[in-house]
Amino acid sequence: MPCTPIKHYPGVRGVVCGPRPRSKPCAFCPRAASRLCDGVTRKAAVPTDPTFEDVALQDSTCDKRLCDRCSRSPEDGKDYCPGCAPAESIRRRAIAAAMLLKAVP
Ligand SMILES: [Zn+2]
Ligand SMILES: [Zn+2]
Repeated sequence: MPCTPIKHYPGVRGVVCGPRPRSKPCAFCPRAASRLCDGVTRKAAVPTDPTFEDVALQDSTCDKRLCDRCSRSPEDGKDYCPGCAPAESIRRRAIAAAMLLKAVP
């Protein structure tokens, strides 16, 4: 029976013994996936009005399985697959630009 040390939660120590959790492979390489893509899918990322007021961060995410190597993390706690990373940076820049425009009367 494999034992896995718990190291995902700060301050929590121990090992979990039992059947190995099903580790599915990364969507981009054969390594084991450790996370899911947080990229907002195209449908949700498209702004619904020209001022970007309605760039809603909906729960619809890409959710592709990623390993440590294939994940792109522009900010802490977020992971993006190679397919979503460029679109995400464009979207973030668009939102930042919209916020700048709003700040200047
Ligand atoms: Zn990978
Ligand atoms: Zn993705």
